[in-house]
Amino acid sequence: MKAEVAQQILLLELAELDAELSRLTHRVAHLPEQQRLEQLQTDQRNAADRLAVLGIALEDVDAQISRLESEVDAVRQREDRDRGLLDSGTVNPKQLEELQHELDTLERRQASLEDSLMEVMERREQLAAEQGTEQAGFDGLGQELIAAEQARDEVLAEIEQARTGRDARRTDLVSGLEAELLALYDRQRASSGIGAGRLIGGRCGGCRIELDRGEMARITAASDDEVLRCSECGTILLRVRGPGE
Ligand SMILES: [Zn+2]
Repeated sequence: MKAEVAQQILLLELAELDAELSRLTHRVAHLPEQQRLEQLQTDQRNAADRLAVLGIALEDVDAQISRLESEVDAVRQREDRDRGLLDSGTVNPKQLEELQHELDTLERRQASLEDSLMEVMERREQLAAEQGTEQAGFDGLGQELIAAEQARDEVLAEIEQARTGRDARRTDLVSGLEAELLALYDRQRASSGIGAGRLIGGRCGGCRIELDRGEMARITAASDDEVLRCSECGTILLRVRGPGE
C-alpha cells in the first residue's frame, strides 16, 4: 500500500491522539480519587453496621432495665403491704413471724435487684458512649464522602474536557485520511491496541522491538510513500515527524 507523506503525518497525529485518549481512559479507570471515595463508602457502611449492632444492644439493655425496674417496684409494693400489716397491730404472733421472715427475704431480693440494675445501667452508659463515638465517626465520614465525591467529580470533569477537545481533533483527522489507510490503521489497532507508530532508532513504535538489519535495509530502500509494517507486530511504521516536531 502507498500513502503520501502528508497522509502519513496525519496518521501519526491520529496514532498519538489515540494513545492519549487511551491514557485518559486508563486514568478514569484507575482514578485515586475514585478509590478514595470507594474506601470511604466501605468505611461508612462498616460504621453503619456497627451503629446498628450498638442500637440493638442498647434496646436489649433498655428492656432489661424496664424489667428490673418493674421487679423492684413489685418488691417494694409487697414490702409496703407487709409493713402496713405489721403496723396495723392486727396480726397474731405466728403471722408476725411469717411477715418478718418475708420482709427479710424481700429486702434481700430488692438489694440484689438493685445491684443488677446498677450493673445494667453501667453497661448502658458504656454502650451509649460507644454509640456517641461511633456516630461522630459516621458523621465525619459523611463529610469526608461529600469532599471526596467533589474531588472525584472535578478530576472527571477535567479529563472529560481533555477528551472532548481530542475527540473533536480526531474527527477532523479521520475525515482527512484516505479510507484504505484508515481501515488498515483501525484493523491493526483493533488487533494489537496500537495502529501506527514512529520508527525511532530502528525500533518499532508499537512493540518497541528493534528491527533486524534485513528489515532496516528493506525500510531504507522503500520509497517515502510506501506504507511499511512491523514484521513482528504489524504496526504501521511511520518515518515522518509529527506536526509539533
Ligand atoms: Zn512492532
